[in-house]
Amino acid sequence: MEVSSVKKLEQMEFSLESVTDLSSSSVSSSSPAVATFSCVDGVTELRFLQSDSTHCFNFDLASAQLFKLGPVHFICVSDSSSSSEEKSFSQGVNIKFITEKDSKDFCESFEEWTKDAVVQGSSLQNGTVSAKKSKFDNKIEASSAKMYFHYYGQLLHQQNMLQDYVRTGTYYAAVMENRSDFAGRIVVDVGAGSGILSMFAAQAGAKHVYAVEASEMAEYARKLIAGNPLFAERITVIKGKVEDIELPEKADILISEPMGTLLVNERMLESYVIARDRFMSPKGKMFPTVGRIHMAPFSDEFLFIEMANKAMFWQQQNYYGVDLTPLYGSAHQGYFSQPVVDAFDPRVLVAPPMFHMVDFTQMKEEDFYEIDIPLKFTASMCTRLHGLACWFDVLFDGSTVQRWLTTAPGAPTTHWYQIRCVLSQPIYVMAGQEITGRLHLIAHSAQSYTIDLTLSAKMWGPGASQGGILQSSTCKFDLKEPYYRMSQPQAYPVAQEPPLQPQPELSTQDIQTQNDELEEELLQQPPQNPSTQL
Ligand code: SAH
Repeated sequence: MEVSSVKKLEQMEFSLESVTDLSSSSVSSSSPAVATFSCVDGVTELRFLQSDSTHCFNFDLASAQLFKLGPVHFICVSDSSSSSEEKSFSQGVNIKFITEKDSKDFCESFEEWTKDAVVQGSSLQNGTVSAKKSKFDNKIEASSAKMYFHYYGQLLHQQNMLQDYVRTGTYYAAVMENRSDFAGRIVVDVGAGSGILSMFAAQAGAKHVYAVEASEMAEYARKLIAGNPLFAERITVIKGKVEDIELPEKADILISEPMGTLLVNERMLESYVIARDRFMSPKGKMFPTVGRIHMAPFSDEFLFIEMANKAMFWQQQNYYGVDLTPLYGSAHQGYFSQPVVDAFDPRVLVAPPMFHMVDFTQMKEEDFYEIDIPLKFTASMCTRLHGLACWFDVLFDGSTVQRWLTTAPGAPTTHWYQIRCVLSQPIYVMAGQEITGRLHLIAHSAQSYTIDLTLSAKMWGPGASQGGILQSSTCKFDLKEPYYRMSQPQAYPVAQEPPLQPQPELSTQDIQTQNDELEEELLQQPPQNPSTQL
């Protein structure tokens, strides 16, 4: 099924104190005016009409821009005038609002209406006006986005996620146990990849699923879905970013797998909440509904020494006659700025964990730009503390069953593993001592985060009232550059749940026996976390 663009026929009006033409050399008299947003047959337009004149200024919202000059004073420009003789030149108007509230309301509407406008670059006699960038392109570097979608456009990386049976099986269970949330409903699959979640939703009886995928994987998803005639009629694949595409109807439920390492890596949660605001009906559901970042301090002498040793290479004073030591400090700092990704034994944790809740139904896109988490733990042993261990879980808050997907240490390992931020200066703690600190995440344009971590040990015991912080250690990390430490996969005694619906012809066991070579290769390779290789 092809998706027709949504026809918006409403219009919206604002009273203005005045509108004057920017291109006119004479100072035109300022008189009250009306600004009208409208959309007819896919063309979104902003029209200014002066009350004492029949002359009006028409702006195509695909190219219009608004600049604030003062609390109630703005200019609006666009790349072409509506009158045919001036079509090749930019046009602009000076706008004055009556109150600040009016100007604020107008700006909000301007943003809403320009979002829906068709974006086209154009070439003018007085210069080239580039196409307006989408919300995604505005905040993400083009080179990062290119690599990101190239990565997800490859089947091997989708396969890697599909073969994370904890992940995929939990999604399958969450959907099937909550059929009533899907049966007869309109579903949007945000970042559909291979289309697997769309097909789960269709299996659960969805009336129609819109599978939105920005990478070339959209073509494979089409092929896969077409080969599954039971679902094909009820799934439409739409190639594009959720920030840019249009859907013909609102969704009752969104399904997505937008989680990266530490939950937020890849910055896809922002696309998830943008999709919520653009496509979900007010009483709609989100699968997953909430996420939690869990954190606990850890002690791991082996890991600390391993990292410190890596930098020791640069301690050589005679490397083929060259003194490498000038770069030792930088190398050491470089290694300690890499978050470590592996599956660790939960016994390395030295305090009960705490968590930070992220409610996907409430978060605004901007809330993800900076996440500040105050930390407070009580050490359960006397040890040397090497940093902070983190993992996440997400909840599918179904009407029938609430199901968690967890990436916790000790639980069946997922392709996200866990993450540890290792401090270059460990701190010493006593059992019962309070550990405080801060985990500060700042989003960057390469679809990841800069992490600032501080851990401090507070004075403990009878002398506590006399002293504050005993020791404090701070480190900066780039979540985009993790250290994949998976050469030695660790076995944990916790048994993995059996697959929910084993396929007789291809079970997990079959894969193991048939693909011994592949398995071996996988064990030797760094893990295949999507976020890591981007
Ligand atoms: N839903 C699939 C794939 C999850 S991986 C599964 O569960 O197996 C996330 C997918 O979202 C990738 O294929 C990626 O290309 C896509 N994606 C990421 N950001 C997107 C955006 N803004 N718009 C559309 N697709 C996006």
